[in-house]
Amino acid sequence: RKGNVVITGASSGLGLATAKALAETGKWHVIMACRDFLKAARAAKSAGIAKENFTIMHLDLASLDSVRQFVDNFRRSDMPLDVLVCNAAVYLPTAKEPRFTAEGFELSVGTNHLGHFLLARLLLEDLNKSDYPSKRLIIVGSITGNTNTLAGNVPPKANLGDLRGLSGGLNGLNSSVMIDGGDFDGAKAYKDSKVCNMLTMQEFHRRYHEETGITFASLYPGCIATTGLFREHIPLFRTLFPPFQKYITKGYVSEDEAGKRLAQVVSEPSLTKSGVYWSWNKASASFENQLSQEASDAEKARKVWEVSEKLVGLA
Ligand code: NDP
Repeated sequence: RKGNVVITGASSGLGLATAKALAETGKWHVIMACRDFLKAARAAKSAGIAKENFTIMHLDLASLDSVRQFVDNFRRSDMPLDVLVCNAAVYLPTAKEPRFTAEGFELSVGTNHLGHFLLARLLLEDLNKSDYPSKRLIIVGSITGNTNTLAGNVPPKANLGDLRGLSGGLNGLNSSVMIDGGDFDGAKAYKDSKVCNMLTMQEFHRRYHEETGITFASLYPGCIATTGLFREHIPLFRTLFPPFQKYITKGYVSEDEAGKRLAQVVSEPSLTKSGVYWSWNKASASFENQLSQEASDAEKARKVWEVSEKLVGLA
């Protein structure tokens, strides 16, 4: 049978390119988990994904009720779950004021980390039931949360501190909206959320890999300077960022190429190692990359896991 892969945020950018790359192989059925049904339908059509190769299901990661409803709907479809890709994200680098999820968490960490944390925790059971030979749970990471790289050292740097803001619920009422307790900074909140994504992947690996055989992985697909991720940035940035990445840092990858990379992490028989953060070299070959100290801190990963469990109502 075909493999079934759920991809969050498959209505644009990396998620859409990955959906396309997998659907084209004829070996995958893609469940596009998206907040905007019409946008997803148009995106699938313009990418040329054949009807029989995808299903769109509503998911708004900025609402924990929506996450739970998505899981119920997915289960009702009776499709087995073979691979889950947590890809969706928001990035609010120019926001002066924080925005919030339905439950009142700061929007970047609430969507990118907490929404995905609940989704992945609930769907672990479904992955576990599948009889697919190589089951995988992939959480898209980023170099920007990784302070052992040049890009990760552009201020404001990711830093989760002692998690006081996260423990308080990131609500701006009785706690800070930032994980480390600092003042709101949209660019930093995004980077912090990506550190949480990478820590969560490793904690999943430590807790569940041996018992379930599921491969847990993260990746940095390269700088895809053209995606919607930068939609909130100032116009001058959006004009200059793609050529800057192409010619100066040479970190640029096209959406197509990035989609092929993530599709490899979903389906390549050679990429089954669990607990790995994949990157690609200049020749487009995958390798196991090193994470920064904070993004590989096992004690912090455990704490982020435990605090997140409380916030999403699992503990
Ligand atoms: P895009 O903005 O193009 O795609 C993000 C997707 O997430 C969109 O489909 C968007 O939906 C969806 N999304 C946002 N909020 C929600 C929500 N509340 N519920 C459900 N879906 C939501 O960005 P990219 O493709 O660039 O980003 C994809 C991933 O790649 C992210 O995890 C990002 O961190 C990562 N990444 C990107 C890099 C880059 O250079 N672009 C580099 C490294 C990592 P909608 O279409 O409705 O807006």
